[in-house]
Amino acid sequence: MLDLPRRGAYRKHGLETEGTRMRLQDQVAVVTGGLSGIGAAIAARFASEGARVVAADLAAPEGPLDAGATIAPLHVDVTQEASTDAMAAAVMDAHGRINILVNSAGFGLDIPFLDTPVAVLDRILAVNVRGTFLAAQACGRAMRDAGSGAIVNIASVSGLRGSSGRAAYGASKGAIVTLTQVMAMDLAQYGIRVNALAPGPVDTPLTLRVHTPETRQAWTRATMLRRYGTPEEMAAAALFLVSAEAAYITGHVLPVDGGFAAAGMDSRA
Ligand code: NAD
Repeated sequence: MLDLPRRGAYRKHGLETEGTRMRLQDQVAVVTGGLSGIGAAIAARFASEGARVVAADLAAPEGPLDAGATIAPLHVDVTQEASTDAMAAAVMDAHGRINILVNSAGFGLDIPFLDTPVAVLDRILAVNVRGTFLAAQACGRAMRDAGSGAIVNIASVSGLRGSSGRAAYGASKGAIVTLTQVMAMDLAQYGIRVNALAPGPVDTPLTLRVHTPETRQAWTRATMLRRYGTPEEMAAAALFLVSAEAAYITGHVLPVDGGFAAAGMDSRA
């Protein structure tokens, strides 16, 4: 017979799930890019688990943060240090803490390497890399002072593999993979865990804009599960990484990609 640990043993390791207890009860989460696609799904999922969520997004109207809202939009441009500093200050004024940060603000384009204007490279690096860096610095300082925190950066399978037309975008996502590992190293001493998601193709406003029918077909064929992922599937993985269940996981890059990054020769048509 299976010898299961007694109930108290689970509690000792923080693994007890008490029926109705929500996983992010009383936590304050900042989600950049939180008004669309993957970020919006993460904001909704975190809120359903009891968090107060600040959806910090370029598309949010300028104005004060509504401290009473379950999901409060807040205007931020993550490429600007003054803006990310103001974001963290507004959350601290409203809630007095930042327990969780998800860096989902980002964008990309598919352009062949030789045709990629340097201005496109600069813009993609500014939003995806500089933006992740600045938001994590601003929120990370508040987490350091509190002695705990969890950060999830949104990388991409395009930062793990060479996909067509992804020179600028792939370079930015590869940078996020390494940034995640370095942040995890530097912030561990403050009780802050840092991980990344590497989504495969996900149906969001971004992919609706960027993916042609041919691109969709190519991604679907290259993915073991033969379909795009959903924003909700990305949110489930982000929830795991920020929750107590991932207490011993840091510096990890988790592909959530229907098997894309693990795929090799595929004998199916
Ligand atoms: P999306 O376009 O639906 O949402 C991105 C959000 O970021 C938007 O609300 C936008 O206003 C915001 N944003 C853009 N620039 C900003 C800035 N300077 N400051 C603040 N907010 C800004 O895109 P999505 O598909 O949900 O992508 C979210 C993240 O996931 C991105 O980092 C993207 O690279 C990554 N990703 C997406 C896919 C996919 O297939 N959709 C796959 C891998 C990785």
